[in-house]
Amino acid sequence: MYHGRFAPTPSGPLHLGSLVAAVGSYLDAHAHNGQWFVRIEDVDKPRAVPGAADTILRQLEDHGLTWHGEVIFQSDRDESYQDYINSLTSADCIYQCDCSRKAIRERGGIYDGYCRTRQPRPTPYALRYINSNPVNQFNDRALGVQLGDTSTCAEDFVVKRRDGLYAYQLAVVVDDIEQGITDIVRGSDLVVPSFWQLTLWQHIAKTEPRMMHLPLVTSNDGRKLSKQNHAPAINSQHASDNLLTALDYLGIDAHELSETRQIDEILAFAVQKWRKKWHITPA
Ligand code: GLU
Repeated sequence: MYHGRFAPTPSGPLHLGSLVAAVGSYLDAHAHNGQWFVRIEDVDKPRAVPGAADTILRQLEDHGLTWHGEVIFQSDRDESYQDYINSLTSADCIYQCDCSRKAIRERGGIYDGYCRTRQPRPTPYALRYINSNPVNQFNDRALGVQLGDTSTCAEDFVVKRRDGLYAYQLAVVVDDIEQGITDIVRGSDLVVPSFWQLTLWQHIAKTEPRMMHLPLVTSNDGRKLSKQNHAPAINSQHASDNLLTALDYLGIDAHELSETRQIDEILAFAVQKWRKKWHITPA
């Protein structure tokens, strides 16, 4: 069965860019008659803003974007992440690395496996994955075939950070696999990390999810809307309006609907349009 998800980082409230990702993944799940999960990606604990997760969940509900089952919080999942680190360690797929960013930059910017044969390192150290079968190509449902930069794709990426936090690349893959996610639909700023994530998927699950990367919302100066560049929070009082704007970014023509329509009507209409646009036959 189709399992999709929206996985926001709680570094602030939802803005139009994150709403577009939420709506796109919601529509794709419903167009497939699948289930849509929400996961709060607070693995990077210092980046999580207190109260932001609750705000995001309320904003989703205010826009009719209700999820299936319990919301998962990455901050509760250290034990699972450590289990995967332990099994990668027992399979000799991990090594300790204490190289600084500066040292890596001086050696050309792409990590060259310097610490592979230099274990053990004095603490603190990061853990890197021995990337012997890198994925450097995948077929994106929206963007077509994506080719990655060969040396970046083959880098031994970090799975546990030097500060002791689990790396986002590890957490997202472990969670997606454990939640049985079949389809990842998210913003196209995440195309590049997809190669490493698919490499880990291949290693851990011997399979891959389908991928779909959506258009990014940019500000007038062409930069991606993000919490870092102070994108304004969406206002739930204009939920119908916000949904119609998000649909426009997603290439769904909703002209025939007025802003006075109820959010449920807008979403039901958009699911039908999404099916047509992406030639989806529901299960
Ligand atoms: N947590 C990431 C973000 O908010 C999204 C991760 C994903 O969808 O895979 O940008």
